Amino acid sequence: MVDYGTALALILREAAPFAVERRTLAEAGGLVLAEAVVADADLPPFDNSAMDGFALRAEGKAVAAGAEFEVAGAQVAGDEAARADGGAWEIMTGARMPEGLDSVVPVERVEVLARDGKGRPARIRLSADVQPGDNVRLRGQDVERGTTVLQPGRPVDSAAVMVLASLGVDSVAVRRRPRVAVLNTGRELVDDPRRPLASGEIRNSNGPFVSARVDAAGAELVLRETVTDEPADFLAALARALAAGADVVLSTGAVSMGRHDFVPDALRGIGADIRFHKVAIRPGRPLLFARLAGGQLYFGLPGNPASAAVGLRFFAEAALRALTGLAPERPLRMPLAAPWRKRAELRFHLKGRVELADGALRARVLHGQESFKVQPLLVANAWIVVPAESMALEAGDMVDVYAPGHAEGLKIEEVMQ
Ligand code: AMP
Ligand code: MG
Repeated sequence: MVDYGTALALILREAAPFAVERRTLAEAGGLVLAEAVVADADLPPFDNSAMDGFALRAEGKAVAAGAEFEVAGAQVAGDEAARADGGAWEIMTGARMPEGLDSVVPVERVEVLARDGKGRPARIRLSADVQPGDNVRLRGQDVERGTTVLQPGRPVDSAAVMVLASLGVDSVAVRRRPRVAVLNTGRELVDDPRRPLASGEIRNSNGPFVSARVDAAGAELVLRETVTDEPADFLAALARALAAGADVVLSTGAVSMGRHDFVPDALRGIGADIRFHKVAIRPGRPLLFARLAGGQLYFGLPGNPASAAVGLRFFAEAALRALTGLAPERPLRMPLAAPWRKRAELRFHLKGRVELADGALRARVLHGQESFKVQPLLVANAWIVVPAESMALEAGDMVDVYAPGHAEGLKIEEVMQ
């Protein structure tokens, strides 16, 4: 049995980041940047108006209310550079500032004194003072050319897309999504929800759960199969998983001490290198991690639903992160809502609930920590982690808290006191 830190180090040693590829912005959404992005343009690219109004020349001092101007020209968004020799220019939001003008007065702050034959303003009077630079968005005021706007390890999320698109970046260096296969072992498992259960049978809940979590973790599910406890059956499904291109195989069940827990031997039989089997955690102690002969990573998650969830969340997801070039995750720290004791010197991953009470966050360990219980997962919005050596925690003691999945945030509600 290894401790958590050793297990994680063994995983990270095997999970070398994928090769760097260039993808268009449209393809890169959700992937992780492998290289920094340096702005090769200024944003905005030219001085422009922040308002619909009139551009003036203030030349370093305020222009007082009451001043009158002839309207000498007009600039609309998309118009090329123009040169102004004094006067006021009618200007629209986003239009390039005429050279020689430096301030904009919004249309609501002028009185139109005269119009031309086409009804366009010909002479205006200011109804408020205009300060130099008012309502002008300067070239490079948002992003200056040469600035590093995005660092490697940053997911290409919608905010990144907004900035990259603004800069005219057409492709970025990223790493692809890991391909994951899920194999659920157990002759007791039934997949078809319409089929009544025969004596001794149960529904396969890990299959749909793990598949959904793989998706939420930013990986691509390439195969999911349910297999009996016959090693030959299992090995045939594993071969199909690898043929489907899986980088990571997740199985559930058959890694404990029972007579039908065949996964470790079956893997050894095909030349897998088992890096660890059993971790000093609860739930999910029988977790197995191996490297297959073809280099793929294999996680043997225990069959109990909460054990499978923990193995996936804290071990398989750590590998998925590393493959895509994400840095190891760091927990939030927050105070425990109520005292909590444990009897085993194991690292506990607990179904927890982060609450907002009087505006402050706190973490509550939920009832129903047994690994077969799924209902508490409905209430849980976080995992609370208690290290092996902490046996007794008091209310207010700080604990590590993780979101339900590494790519998700906490969903927190206010609690009534
Ligand atoms: P195992 O690790 O195979 O010994 O399974 C441990 C427990 O988890 C047993 O009660 C199994 O019936 C249950 N179990 C195994 N696989 C699943 C699954 N896919 N869905 C729901 N329960 C499961
Ligand atoms: Mg089983």
